This record gives sequence, structure tokens and C-alpha cells, in this order.
Amino acid sequence: MTKQRKAVALISGGLDSLLAARVVMEQGVHVEGINFFTGFCVEGHTHAIRKKDRAHPKRNNALWTAERLGIKLHIVDIIDEYKDVVINPKHGYGSNLNPCLDCKIFMVHKAREWIDANGFDFIVTGEVIGQRPMSQRRDTMPVVARDSGATDRLVRPLCAKNLPPTLPEQEGWLDRDRLYDFSGRSRKPQMALARQFGFEDYAQPAGGCCFLTDKQYSVKLADLWNSRGKREYDLDDIMLLKVGRHLRPRPNFKLIVGREEGENRFMEGYRKRFVHMFPTSHTGPLVLLDGETGPADIELAARLTARFSQGRDAQQVTVEMHDREGVSQSLEVTPLPGDQIPDEWYL
Ligand code: SF4
Repeated sequence: MTKQRKAVALISGGLDSLLAARVVMEQGVHVEGINFFTGFCVEGHTHAIRKKDRAHPKRNNALWTAERLGIKLHIVDIIDEYKDVVINPKHGYGSNLNPCLDCKIFMVHKAREWIDANGFDFIVTGEVIGQRPMSQRRDTMPVVARDSGATDRLVRPLCAKNLPPTLPEQEGWLDRDRLYDFSGRSRKPQMALARQFGFEDYAQPAGGCCFLTDKQYSVKLADLWNSRGKREYDLDDIMLLKVGRHLRPRPNFKLIVGREEGENRFMEGYRKRFVHMFPTSHTGPLVLLDGETGPADIELAARLTARFSQGRDAQQVTVEMHDREGVSQSLEVTPLPGDQIPDEWYL
């Protein structure tokens, strides 16, 4: 009896990885999924916090994908190790602070370590030649295979026919004729294949799942590094960049202004770490002050807090300020007029 081969599929939660895993399963391979948690994932966090995202399903798409496939999913926390990928990408960034090529190399490398440790035979990804401008180009796909150390144990079932045969194809573990030759940005072939497999509901594809591809998010991350004079972050930093309106009125501090109840509640968890304020005479946001602030900064921040409250047109608004030691102070301020808030303050 021939030995059943085992593969680990990188599961992002998007359609391509779902299909790639399914194509390999069709050929009798035992497949398990692996999902890497970088801290920059969009779903499940902001969708749970923000009202406008209520229509989005509050689910972990990777888990949901694995469930649809009926496979085991390993979720691996790579937050710390991943920092070096984001901070020092050897191959640079994409159009925002997305280090896609280094990211892909890193994830496939982690998967390679995983298969070695767990006695699996090869790695499967949902990559398609020409689909993404940085990591899925004809010239960068071999780089991922080589620099990750996965070499010919990396199979891309959706575009395998456009690439040299991999070890599983050469060894007959996979029939190359039953793999695909997709290429380019069109999603039509994937949608057709999804229909063929009976997948009608699937997560929106690649790109939208990572905050690093988001322009505004990248501006905020660059500002964070710039204000600290070094490129570093921790998980709380990158979580907070996902919520609130961020304004930097002075180089020494910025404000994070809750935009709605859900964000205010989320930000409450950070009150001990930041000087914070909120209006008490009117309904309004919780505001966190990030940086070192003097009395003039506190007054400006209180006036901005008043500006973003229901009392924006009032003569006076009472704002309560709490410092990091838990000492509070009540401030009577005039809301800052809108025309005194330059666009450059908004990150
Ligand atoms: S979009 Fe984000 S997760 Fe995806 S390859 Fe690029 S950096 Fe990595």
C-alpha cells in the first residue's frame, strides 16, 4: 500500500488558499492548515468593534475555511518574530508598509520548519502568478521557494502548470495534470473552481486581510516610528493604530479619539497606559494622549476633545483629564473651531 502523503496548507482565510488546499485534498493527500497571526490581520478585531463593519461576519476566516475543508488548523503566533520582517524588509515595501515578499518568504520558511518538525512532506499555498504586484510575480515566486528553504517542497496548485514540476509532482504524490494554470489578476478562474467544488460563500480575497496594505494605517505606523525616533512596535501599538481618529497637533504628542461607542469601550482598556480625557458636560469621545504633554498641550487636547463632542458649538465644555498616576482634573474649555484644525493634523 502506498504511503499517504501529508501537506500543510497556508490558510489565510481567502478564496485562493481554500481552493489550493482543496485541490491537493482531491488527490488523496492528508492536508492540515497553518495560519500565522501577525497582529496586522483586519478581520475579527475591527469588525467586532466598529458599527459600520457590522455587516462583515465576525469570524476568524482561517478557522472558518478550515472548517469548510474539514481539516485541522494550526494557528501560530508569530508577532515577535514578524517584527523584523515589518521593520527591516530585505526586499522593501509594496505601495504601503506591506513587506509582502519578505512576509511570504518568512511564512513559507516557518511552514518549512513546521513540516520538518511534524513529519509532513510538503507545503501548499494559494499563490497565483501575476496576482499580486510584489510577492506573486513570475520572477519573485522562485525567490520565495528558494529563500524560504522550501525549494521544491513548495506547491502552488492553482498555477503549478506554469511553474517547474515540484518534488510531489516528480515523485507522483500529486498528478500535475490535475493541478491548474491560473495566472494574472482575474478572479474568474478561482470563482469557477469554487463553484465546481460547491463553495458559494467565501471570504473576500487577498490584500484586504492585512492592515499593512492600507494607506492610512501605514501613515499612522510611519508616524509612530517617526515620533519615537526608532522603528519599533508592540502588539498594543499596532492594535491602537486600528481604532479611533488619530491627530498629531504637535510633534511631542498625538490624540487617539474614539469615533463611536465600540471604540471608546475598546480604548478604555488602555486608560492606565495613557493620559486620557473625555467630556463630562456633553456626550463625547474618550481621547488617549500618546506622548509627553505639558499644560499647553493638555489645554489644546481638551479643546479638541470638546470639538469632537456633542458640545462642539457650545461656549464651554467640561472635560475631565486623568493622568497616568490616576490623578484627575476638570477643565472648562472652549471647543477648538474647525477652521483651526489643519488637515495635516489628521494622520
Ligand atoms: S498582504 Fe500582509 S500578510 Fe499578505 S503577504 Fe503582504 S504583508 Fe504579508
